[in-house]
Amino acid sequence: MKTDASSVPFDVALEAVNAGSTSPKHIRRLLLAAGDELAALFEVADVKRRQSVGDAVHLRAIIEFSSHCVRNCSYCGLRVGNKRLARYRLSPEEIVATAQEAERLGYRSVVLQSGEDMGFSMETLCDVVREIRCHTDLAVTVSVGERSYSEYALLRQAGAHRYLLKHETADPQLYARLHVGHRLADRIAALKSLRDLGFQIGSGFMVGLPGQSVDVLVADLRLLHRLDVDMAGIGPFIAHPDTPLGQAASGDAQLTLKCVAVARLLLPYAHLPATTALGTVAVDGWAAALQAGANVIMPNLTPKAYRSSYAIYPGKGRNLEEPQRQRAQVVRMVTALGRTVAQDPGHSLRWMEKSKEVFSDAYRSSGMGVS
Ligand code: SAH
Ligand code: SF4
Repeated sequence: MKTDASSVPFDVALEAVNAGSTSPKHIRRLLLAAGDELAALFEVADVKRRQSVGDAVHLRAIIEFSSHCVRNCSYCGLRVGNKRLARYRLSPEEIVATAQEAERLGYRSVVLQSGEDMGFSMETLCDVVREIRCHTDLAVTVSVGERSYSEYALLRQAGAHRYLLKHETADPQLYARLHVGHRLADRIAALKSLRDLGFQIGSGFMVGLPGQSVDVLVADLRLLHRLDVDMAGIGPFIAHPDTPLGQAASGDAQLTLKCVAVARLLLPYAHLPATTALGTVAVDGWAAALQAGANVIMPNLTPKAYRSSYAIYPGKGRNLEEPQRQRAQVVRMVTALGRTVAQDPGHSLRWMEKSKEVFSDAYRSSGMGVS
């Protein structure tokens, strides 16, 4: 007989997932949490976060350097089919200067993100990464979509530490409907390639996509666990009027928070951002996520003139605060929650161990080892 998830007592499911269960019926029951159960779920996730990654919140400055994109994802305002969007592309010098400004403001890490812009060559992007690594101590994350294995390898050689590529939805049919001509399996293979190349990998998904059931969210969370990601971005889908999903309902902030909390229980050591999308649908979305398992915030350092053109969803570029004020606001919010701002670049601990191994192996094989 098939077990109805709602027949699992909430407390049993919470204890089980907190102790390492990835059973669909337990995860599903947590996603159905309501009333007093919500506070209990968020509290247990908050404790897990404190015990595993501590109280420090990592701030990553995101630089959205190009709004050009060759893909046509049904949900995204940057899709090639959206002819109403003003497209822009920062020059390599502008990107490097913005990263340097981020470091001056106190950031220890930057995220370079764009649409899949074939007009911005991988060679140029590698030069940008090399320049940033050469002139700053920043950790560098790249998020430019699906590329070939050899292009990813070049990026890694140029010194990029991390790569963000959300799987978006773990349902292969829904994935194929949202990304005509593309397959979930290729996305997952790309994440595995990135891991093999020595990147810290980030995935994630949208909550509330049209056609997504709770069971799909269960699969999303289990996929993050299976990929053993270093980072996971979980945000609500926000309907963009100039896309085929423009009339759909947007995702729910509370369901998003439940997914963040469950992700923390499944992946105690992962970096989980309070996503920009969550901050867009709920005024206190960032603070709520930080109290439900999240430990990262990604303030937007894209030069002001371009910010509203990186319109992945409506409301996205509305924060036009100067970088300094924006950082001060975030620091105030973090401090008000009794948390601190991390002073380190926030590399994944497992990755640092692995890098040490690789480094000492190379050191030994070069004949320079001490023992
Ligand atoms: N082109 C790259 C990176 C930029 S898109 C890529 O696709 O990987 C960054 C993220 O924006 C996507 O991963 C997606 O999860 C999110 N996004 C796009 N459209 C959205 C929407 N309408 N609502 C919420 N998030 C959206
Ligand atoms: Fe392009 Fe990324 Fe938007 Fe898809 S989600 S259309 S790849 S920017």
